[in-house]
Amino acid sequence: MIQIAIDGPGGAGKSTISKGVAAKLGIVYVDTGALYRTVGYYVRNKEIDPHDRDAVGAILPEISIEVAYVDGAQHVFLNGEDLGDKIRTPEMSMYASAVSAIPSVRAFLLETQKEIARKNSVIMDGRDIGTVILPNADLKVYLTASAECRAKRRYDELIAKGQSVRFEDVLREMNERDTQDSTREIAPAQAAEDAILLDNTGLNLEESIDAIIALVREKTDFFAN
Ligand code: C5P
Repeated sequence: MIQIAIDGPGGAGKSTISKGVAAKLGIVYVDTGALYRTVGYYVRNKEIDPHDRDAVGAILPEISIEVAYVDGAQHVFLNGEDLGDKIRTPEMSMYASAVSAIPSVRAFLLETQKEIARKNSVIMDGRDIGTVILPNADLKVYLTASAECRAKRRYDELIAKGQSVRFEDVLREMNERDTQDSTREIAPAQAAEDAILLDNTGLNLEESIDAIIALVREKTDFFAN
């Protein structure tokens, strides 16, 4: 069993890179942001203010979240419904960021995340994986890139999905979300003390994947077995 924690700001390529590493190592890729997005989606549908701690806390008992892995792809089910790409809009990014600052939401999702890592060899990405969810991970990487570069990647991703967005808006929203995530009181997005910083501004996808595989080789005994 191996646990790899990948943290970092939005647009650093955490999910695409982690997916690639998971495929190469034959382990499970866990996208924890999808869980916060799922809670955000429910809160949005209920027309609740995502910053209202009491109102959001009150509806958590109505939510059941199941996670399944099919051919390496993660599917998140909200009360039985596979949400697919509905949680991938800029609006859901902001809802996820808002609800993720609420302690009861983090507590609600904690066990789901820990349980997946207990049952599988994982590479898990998020904001607090190395600090809170997997403090004893075999390898912790804090993945980042310049703000411009991260916004460009996010912009390209949304355009490829057919969403009509403007680069300036993507950059502004990304900066707002980073500030909100890194300054919140609970589990602020930050590198664990023992995380390795990987700035992939000048690296393409394949190079970024290789950089992490090299760290797995160097820092863990994964390839020894
Ligand atoms: O990674 P992704 O952009 O899907 O995450 C959406 C939001 O969920 C982040 O902006 C962050 O506020 C929150 N999140 C978190 N902790 C995690 C993963 C995501 O607070 N482990």
